[in-house]
Amino acid sequence: MQKTVRDYIRTIVDFPQEGILFRDVTTLFADARGFRMAIDQLLHPWAGSRIDKVVGLEARGFILGGAVAHQLSVGFVPVRKKGKLPGRTIAQGYRLEYGEAVVEIHEDALTPGERVLVVDDLLATGGTCAAGIGLVERLGASVVGCAFVVDLPDLGGRARIEGMGHAVHALCA
Ligand code: IMP
Repeated sequence: MQKTVRDYIRTIVDFPQEGILFRDVTTLFADARGFRMAIDQLLHPWAGSRIDKVVGLEARGFILGGAVAHQLSVGFVPVRKKGKLPGRTIAQGYRLEYGEAVVEIHEDALTPGERVLVVDDLLATGGTCAAGIGLVERLGASVVGCAFVVDLPDLGGRARIEGMGHAVHALCA
């Protein structure tokens, strides 16, 4: 039978901490057919739509987002953890289960009116994605949608991002 994207993803028990089931997409990336399938499927809802830039969320969103941008023949923009981008940046903080994280984008990476697709490997609570959307919108660009390989709906991310008025597309749960 034809393999699906889900078949290429493995689950690692107790990583990075005891009790966590970590969805490992490196096995998807390493397989030529799996990776090609994932990139095609991530783009599917936006076929025929105008997308000006792809924004990828650190770190696996860089691998997926770079391939998606190449497929669309558009530019790629990274949203990185604080302190990693060399140019002038704007920052957005968000809450984690314990503590707070900050992500940044180069302030000249997007121009007002550009239409952006946000890409990451996995949607959990939606905090990372919501912060990325916030950065895109603060630069005057608009988010066309958010695409993920995995959605963990029990953690509330989809409801949160859809509640902000944005389309969420995920290849598997
Ligand atoms: P959120 O901000 O709670 O939605 O968490 C999503 C972010 O954490 C994404 O950038 C993911 O790459 C990362 N993440 C959380 N859990 C996993 C996992 O099980 N596998 C891979 N990445 C994960």
